[in-house]
Amino acid sequence: MSLFNHYVRTFLLADLFAGLMLTLKYFFSKKVTINYPHQKGPLSPRFRGEHALRRYEDGEERCIACKLCEAICPAQAITIEAEVMPSGARQTTRYDLDLTKCIFCGYCQEACPVEAIVEGPNFEYATETREELMYDKEKLLASGDRWERQLALNIALDAPYR
Ligand code: SF4
Ligand code: SF4
Repeated sequence: MSLFNHYVRTFLLADLFAGLMLTLKYFFSKKVTINYPHQKGPLSPRFRGEHALRRYEDGEERCIACKLCEAICPAQAITIEAEVMPSGARQTTRYDLDLTKCIFCGYCQEACPVEAIVEGPNFEYATETREELMYDKEKLLASGDRWERQLALNIALDAPYR
């Protein structure tokens, strides 16, 4: 750019108006940001969020205490103790999951033969203390009860690819 052109552009504030035109263009175009937490973006059915233990429709726990999830967990975040119930069914008496250790690899969900332990769509479970991230069986079952509809839908959507 010649020195003369430079002075003309400076005198006419050309760069300033070019910037304002760019602002005006994006002012009327479709927004890419969302007003979180009032609006939320789409999530993949494979999203790995807060863990949950699921039940069957009649309320029975799905988990059969096979301990495959505990064995496969690379972070050793899962601790299970189990007993045979009077009904003859094998169930967990303790199912602890330490979310401070978890690396959200999804192996526990992959290993489970009955789709009991899953990683759900909930990502809003930030806590103020580490202790709150030590999930026990009751908390995992409560998470499963709360999200069951979405969990079942996500598993159905992902089923053709498994
Ligand atoms: S997601 Fe991975 S690290 Fe976390 S509990 Fe499951 S297997 Fe362990
Ligand atoms: S959650 Fe699944 S893999 Fe883990 S012990 Fe229960 S049935 Fe087995």
